[in-house]
Amino acid sequence: MTQKPPLTTTDSGAPVESDEHSLTVGPGGPVLLQDAYLIEQMAQFNRERIPERQPHAKGSGAFGHFEVTEDVSAYTMAGLFQPGTRTDLVIRFSTVAGERGSPDTWRDPRGFAIKFYTSQGNYDMVGNNTPVFFVKDPMKFQHFIRSQKRRADNNLRDHDMQWDFWTLSPESAHQVTWLMGDRGIPRTWRHMNGYTSHTYMWINAKGERFWVKYHFKTDQGIEFFTQHEADQMAAVDTDYHMRDLFEHIRDGQFPSWTLYVQLMPYADAAGYRFNPFDLTKVWPHGDYPLVPVGRMTLDRNPTDNHAEIEQAAFQPNNFVPGIGPSPDRMLLARLFSYADAHRHRIGANYQQLPVNAPVVDVHTYSKDGAMAYRKTSDPVYAPNSKGGPVADPARFGPSPTWEADGEIVRAAYVSHPEDDDWGQPGTMVREVLDDAARDRLVDNVVGHLLNGVSEPVLQRAFTYWSNIDETIGKRIADGVRAKGDEKDPKAAEQGNPARSSMQAKA
Ligand code: NDP
Repeated sequence: MTQKPPLTTTDSGAPVESDEHSLTVGPGGPVLLQDAYLIEQMAQFNRERIPERQPHAKGSGAFGHFEVTEDVSAYTMAGLFQPGTRTDLVIRFSTVAGERGSPDTWRDPRGFAIKFYTSQGNYDMVGNNTPVFFVKDPMKFQHFIRSQKRRADNNLRDHDMQWDFWTLSPESAHQVTWLMGDRGIPRTWRHMNGYTSHTYMWINAKGERFWVKYHFKTDQGIEFFTQHEADQMAAVDTDYHMRDLFEHIRDGQFPSWTLYVQLMPYADAAGYRFNPFDLTKVWPHGDYPLVPVGRMTLDRNPTDNHAEIEQAAFQPNNFVPGIGPSPDRMLLARLFSYADAHRHRIGANYQQLPVNAPVVDVHTYSKDGAMAYRKTSDPVYAPNSKGGPVADPARFGPSPTWEADGEIVRAAYVSHPEDDDWGQPGTMVREVLDDAARDRLVDNVVGHLLNGVSEPVLQRAFTYWSNIDETIGKRIADGVRAKGDEKDPKAAEQGNPARSSMQAKA
């Protein structure tokens, strides 16, 4: 039997008189200010949008759980990673540079942000589908994102601006190589890995410390779109990734990822061949193999995308006992900037919203502010002798911290023996990619450079790729010259910029 739909009400719960007709003086007369329901509808509509994320504006997500299948208790005392533990979670996938309506299949890294609702409070992992990043110092992050977004004058995205920044920031080479390769456009969110990228600290019940990197490997297998396929899809369905995830979960085809960690004993960091905290580097698996931990499964869609996904607020400073930060400068800056972004985007009490609220009782001295929902009780200060909450530093054992001293400086990281910007991307190009993947990488870069990159940036781009790999650099320069001539035979006769760069180089 079909149930009768409920009666429409105002926001205060009173029945409304009409869903269709405003209150007027006669059928042809003016609308009346006393139509409080009409005014409520219009006013609420004007306030529907909250500021979109800057960056990671376009995305969606789902709910699920994480189940520990192995025993890593020797490395961390965190409750959510103890054998057999099952923890509910929310995840959000996203692109980075595009606005909220932009196509899902543009070439871009993807966000991979998880909030674990643990029995010790929320633990957030704000990762990407890439194990590295474009910059290693937070001073450059804002500039990097601006270079990927829009110009001031014509409000257009601009490859010249992107390559200008990248080629003046050689530390970007590893991530740019990754981005221009096959994994720069995942076929769906289900077909990509997720990485913390940052190094974190784990600490066990005995107080022993380890550096750790997380790798969520897709159980669906890696699949990607070629540039051509992605362009076609962007024209047909801008929301392809969002739709794919929602429909698979709706149809009971629940995607899953197996979590592995790389673990480095605390004392290894100082003498390791790469700086283990440099966000532009990986730890080669041969040095620190993957250790399995458990499985994440997504099995529930949001019912209100705004309330549950757009207002989901992930912040890497949400740690639980047994897990802490490392000296990675980018991570340390993000510990501040994410929560700050949510205060601006959603409001001071964003952590009280159902999707952000922990499943444990909250006993905080934070109080008041706009839209406060959780009730505060006395005493409102600490220390007090009135029975208010008391912190117990000894309760969870030693904190995950490290020692630091020295002059206060503005300087690059201390270099380790094999730290350089070109080595690891070179290894990827020569040892990880096969011939077909290398061909696609060259095509992707050539296509990108031919789309508006001018001198002297173009010449710097050729040098950048030659520094990564001599052969790939030459193929890219040759490809730009040949395709540039094809695209614009007149310019070829007069000497196109790519040709003159090549001549200048010769
Ligand atoms: P391995 O041979 O042990 O691993 C190679 C890694 O490359 C695997 O994680 C693989 O992921 C990944 N990979 C394969 N194809 C691509 C692609 N088109 N784009 C991006 N990643 C890809 O090598 P090492 O650990 O010694 O590292 C060698 C190089 O591999 C590094 O310099 C780095 O560029 C890249 N890499 C390394 C990772 C790490 O954490 N060590 C992670 C990802 C990339 P999968 O197993 O899922 O297929």
